[in-house]
Amino acid sequence: MESNTYENYQKLKQMLIEADQQVLNTPQPSTLELKASQNFNLLKLDFSLQFTTDDMLDYWNIIDSVKNTKLFQVLKLMPKGALHHLHIGGILTPEDFLSLLKNDSDVHVNLVENRIYFSPIFKENFIPVKEFLACESNESIILDAMRMTREKSVGTPDQRWLNFEQIFISTSAVFGEKRIWENYLSLGLSQLYEENLQRVEFRSMIGIGEMTDGDKFITIEEEIANLQKITDDFSREHPDFSCGLILTAHKLFPKEKTINEAKKVFEFHTEKPEFVLGFDIVGEEDKYNPDEEIYASIYQLKHETNRDCPMFFHSGEVISKNAPSLYDVILLDTQRIGHGIDLIKYPSLIEIVKNKKITIEVCPISNMVLGYVRDLRSHPALAYFYNGIQISISSDVPGLFGYKGVTHDWLWICMLWNIDLMQIKKIAENSIDGCTEPVRTRRVWQEKWEEFITYLADLDI
Ligand SMILES: [Zn+2]
Repeated sequence: MESNTYENYQKLKQMLIEADQQVLNTPQPSTLELKASQNFNLLKLDFSLQFTTDDMLDYWNIIDSVKNTKLFQVLKLMPKGALHHLHIGGILTPEDFLSLLKNDSDVHVNLVENRIYFSPIFKENFIPVKEFLACESNESIILDAMRMTREKSVGTPDQRWLNFEQIFISTSAVFGEKRIWENYLSLGLSQLYEENLQRVEFRSMIGIGEMTDGDKFITIEEEIANLQKITDDFSREHPDFSCGLILTAHKLFPKEKTINEAKKVFEFHTEKPEFVLGFDIVGEEDKYNPDEEIYASIYQLKHETNRDCPMFFHSGEVISKNAPSLYDVILLDTQRIGHGIDLIKYPSLIEIVKNKKITIEVCPISNMVLGYVRDLRSHPALAYFYNGIQISISSDVPGLFGYKGVTHDWLWICMLWNIDLMQIKKIAENSIDGCTEPVRTRRVWQEKWEEFITYLADLDI
């Protein structure tokens, strides 16, 4: 009698476990994937002997040393599918960006009250970068001005964002110069390619700053055409890699300007749907959450113009208040949600996100550094993943956080979420399903995944 009750208990428990596994729906491993998984677990074990969980929570301390681990090197080689969330001005690390600037004899720099400002040409009180760097201690001043240091990532959310946006202000003038911009992007693309990404969908702001080619002003249309040419040339040389562009307004823009930008993006998307993928509004949500009227106007515009321009909104990246914009972006039929940390509080929206397969673009290190989720073990995205919501892994502005590409983000979730190889495969597949070119991206990724699994299964650890 007793044993029957126990058997029954076990059966009921097994049913509950299976019901959860069905929701998670991890792919069934092949024989080779099983072997690769064993090696992957050994790599994780080896990593945990070198770095504890506490070490991982102290991001700034180990950001460089983790690169020497085998786990990092294997994750770097892993085909990752599509990168959904990367602001184009945040690709390069300060070191790489500075190496470009110091080789350009026209680039000048000025230090004002510990703030660095660059200029693509000579300006009063500015000196050539090379000359500035002749004083050895100035190099670390420049590099620190171009990244979110540990000191800049503490304080109130507002202080952190002021520090964060100051970095963009320091470099905005050189970003507005075509030759520097082209060099920046070319180097950025080759670094992203080395991360074994099959597709990158960049975000770039329009209507802010001016782009020049020497003394000639460049229109937004020319700027987009120029960007497309650089990425197309790169993809032609690397047919297993493709790019697209999401154009963004800023949450601090007045309503009319944002609507106007949305209108322009709708037109650009109609002309070049393969490159201009859609629209977004960026910026600190706690401070500038655009009012409902802006979203309602975009909704109206979408219906009036009958333009089916996709949306990829940042939303739910908050600390101090709730994120009611999540309702707006769902009503606007957003295809993905940037960050979505606060979605956890909105059960009806969670259901919609799940049913419509809206992908949450999770940026683990960005969320940690900017103080949204200091301990990744309690990141809501882990709950989303286990509840069958599509998530992808992105790096937001990795250069500003001191690393290249997106491997650090994968490493951090791999260890702090304790996920296995098949769960990693599932997230990479999610990124492909959630990108704007899934068929081609999946075809390229699939082949690379098989190569990677063969390599990992044979790896001598
Ligand atoms: Zn972002």
